[in-house]
Parts: sequence; C-alpha cells; structure tokens
Amino acid sequence: METIKEILMQAENAAILGHIRPDGDCVGSCLGLKNYLAATAPQLKVQVYLEEFPEAFRFLKGADEVSHEPEDGNVYDLCIVLDASDRERLGAFDGYFAHAGRTVCIDHHITNTGFAQTTHVCPERSATSEVLFTLMEEDAIDEAAAECLYMGIVHDTGVFKHSNTSGETMRIAGRLMEKGIPFSRIIDSTFYEKTYRQNQLLGRALMESVLFMNGFCIFSAFRQKTMEFYQADPKDFDGIIDQLRVTKGVECAIFLYETASSEYKVSMRSNKIVDVSKIAAYFGGGGHVRAAGCTMAGSVYDVLNNLSRHIEAQLLEAGVL
Ligand code: AMP
Ligand code: MN
Ligand code: MN
Repeated sequence: METIKEILMQAENAAILGHIRPDGDCVGSCLGLKNYLAATAPQLKVQVYLEEFPEAFRFLKGADEVSHEPEDGNVYDLCIVLDASDRERLGAFDGYFAHAGRTVCIDHHITNTGFAQTTHVCPERSATSEVLFTLMEEDAIDEAAAECLYMGIVHDTGVFKHSNTSGETMRIAGRLMEKGIPFSRIIDSTFYEKTYRQNQLLGRALMESVLFMNGFCIFSAFRQKTMEFYQADPKDFDGIIDQLRVTKGVECAIFLYETASSEYKVSMRSNKIVDVSKIAAYFGGGGHVRAAGCTMAGSVYDVLNNLSRHIEAQLLEAGVL
C-alpha cells in the first residue's frame, strides 16, 4: 500500500473534510494538517471545509480560510477526511468526497466503516490529532500546526483525563508543548471558558437531570422549546455530558437534545463497564468505548427506553445489577 506521503505527492490540490458539528479534535486535526502541508508540501493547494465551529477555535492559524459552505463546485485530486467514522458524518460536504480522484480517511474511531479508498484508523489513539502526529515528520511541525494538534488532543481527552489518554498521548503532547505553544491559554480559552448562555444551559441540564436504574444511569434532555428559549446552539452543549458522567455512583450518562420534531441527538458516556460505542453503533451511530453518539427517533421516553435495554443487558452481564 502506498504511504500517505506518496498519495500526497501525486496530488495538485486537496480538500480536507471533518465531521458534522465539528468538535475540538475535528477542527484541530483539519487545521493541523493544513498548516503542516503548507510547510511541507507548498505545491499542494489545500482547502478545508467544515461546518461553523465554536468561536473559541478561531485563533488557530487558517481558521478564517475554512469554507463553511459546500457550494463552490470545486473538484479535487484528493479528499482527506479526518475524525469522521462514516460517510454520513460528512454532511453537506459529501460531494467533495464523491467527486475526488482519490480518498483517504485518517481517524481513531473503532466504529470507522472504512468508507474511503485508503483508511488509516488507530483506535488506541486518543484523538485524530494524535494519529496525525504519528504520520508527520516532527521537525516539520511548526508552532501553528502544534497548537492545532495540541488543542485536538486536549478536547478528545477532556484535558488528558479520559481513559483514552495513554503515556504516548502525554509524550506527544509534551513534544507539541516544546514547539513553544501557549498551552495554558489553549486549554482555558477553548475548553474551560464558558459563555453565560452555556453556563445557564449546563445549570438547567443538571437541575433537570434524572437518575435511574438504581443510580447507575443519569440522563438529561433538551426539547426544542427549551433550546429556543435560550437561543441555544448545539455547540453550547459541550461539557454537559461530562458533568453528568462524574455524578457519584453513575456508570452511564446520557444527554439528549431534540434536532427535529421527535428526533434526538444522543450522547453517551460510561465510566468503567458499559461499551457505549456498541449501543451507538446498534442505533446507527458510532464512537468509542467510553464516548459515543447517535441520532434516534421518538419521544425522550422512547429513546431512553430503547437505550436502557442495552445498558441494562451489559450491566447484568457484568454482574453489577
Ligand atoms: P458526542 O457525544 O457527540 O460528543 O460524541 C462522542 C463520540 O462519538 C465522538 O467521538 C463522536 O465522533 C462519536 N459520535 C457521536 N455521534 C455519532 C454518530 N451519529 N455517528 C458516529 N459517531 C458519532
Ligand atoms: Mn470528533
Ligand atoms: Mn476525535
């Protein structure tokens, strides 16, 4: 098989795509690769396409040149997809993938469907940004690329604390720090800083959360009416699921928000036992063992009922229920 480098050598222009509702790793890996290619393959014309992403990520070099609209009709020699586990996750940018001469996907989701011509998935890596680091020549990573990759790792590891954080993750983060990046500021301004609206939504989600299954599970849900009241955007929900997860005694946390009438985006997190990627994949989504998501139809009650059956089965099998 050709190496990624060889594939890059053959292209004159490339599109970089991430996934819908871009998170820190998605934006960090896309811009990290763009900055790296600007330094190492200057002959290659690169355009990044991503849905609108949080304002806090705008400081990254190249963020202002990202195209948020899929309508330019460009066709690329090469389409590089980052952090997206299946083709539906490309959303409105799917056309660039469909018409590209060559497609490559670099990812870390265990549920990756292998939808690209060349797929490089490392499920043991914390973030796509970490996978990219292993594919890059370290000396050619400049400060701008390092900031992007570091931010991606910070977000997918919940600031180096989730179970996906390995010694390798820390060593790579350390090497990125040595590029001179403002690591404290990146963590504070992109991860911990919340807007007033985000804090209000977090408060409301916690206040209305419900423990069930003997306290092993917790859920909270936002219906469209509530979201309209707060003028909330899905980007405002980052962090809610993680706060639910650290409720004492909880093994599995579920956060739902209504995306259309009786349709919910589901986020799941587990602490030690439940494999939420299996459950998300069963309902057409995907993710990782301890963090996964999907979209489900029905009322909040229907969605929880359906998820509960799978969670309960796993807890029973593990002998904790
Ligand atoms: P979230 O709960 O949206 O933060 O997602 C947790 C993890 O699951 C992330 O790694 C996502 O990439 C993945 N994920 C979330 N929703 C989906 C979906 N519908 N299909 C595939 N993967 C998903
Ligand atoms: Mn992601
Ligand atoms: Mn990721």
